[in-house]
Amino acid sequence: MSEDGKLKRPEQRISRRQILAECLRGAGVLVMGGALGSLVTRGHADNTVWQIDPSKCVQCGKCATDCVLNPSAVKCVHQYRVCGYCELCFGYFVDQRANDEERAENQRCPTNAIRRTFVEDPYFQYDIDELKCIGCGICVKGCKTFGNGSLVLQVRHDRCLNCNECNIAQNCPANAFVRVPAQTPYLLRTEQEEGPGAKQ
Ligand code: SF4
Ligand code: SF4
Ligand code: SF4
Repeated sequence: MSEDGKLKRPEQRISRRQILAECLRGAGVLVMGGALGSLVTRGHADNTVWQIDPSKCVQCGKCATDCVLNPSAVKCVHQYRVCGYCELCFGYFVDQRANDEERAENQRCPTNAIRRTFVEDPYFQYDIDELKCIGCGICVKGCKTFGNGSLVLQVRHDRCLNCNECNIAQNCPANAFVRVPAQTPYLLRTEQEEGPGAKQ
């Protein structure tokens, strides 16, 4: 709200959260960039690696249980540019909340891997702690069903062994595992895909 009592336009109101998101997005790019280096040695002869196509994934839960690694090489990734920074995030909260409370039992994540940070009224930022994330996809399903779909499952290449026959790919009911070029190993929504009016 401005000093004259008028509601400011969203792009004016959200300047602080934009800065915060840019910082975190930058950190994410660094992490993914660091992961690229190791792909040169892990990639197949055709220089491709396994990745999940978010448009096909149905969040069946097998990514958490069928990877040869424990915990899984699959993690939830937050695409900040798509997020609405909702106060009531359905990736974070269950949709039917007892007494509308923000207690732990009303949160979706079984491992407490999502950190909720107040930015400014009415916005909150949600960050995934990948050390705690097991790739179950429960938050992804919530965000996809009720929100913007800013949470997706991705094979994290700083962990993945790029097995010849990925055990999850063998059991994925949606054929969502695909091989992608090792130089562009993540399938995230792009600015081009979202169009010129995309959120930053
Ligand atoms: S196994 Fe396939 S459908 Fe199931 S969560 Fe993983 S990518 Fe999605
Ligand atoms: S709900 Fe599952 S996929 Fe989402 S952050 Fe928690 S452990 Fe990861
Ligand atoms: S290729 Fe191997 S390590 Fe990577 S996600 Fe599949 S089973 Fe896990």
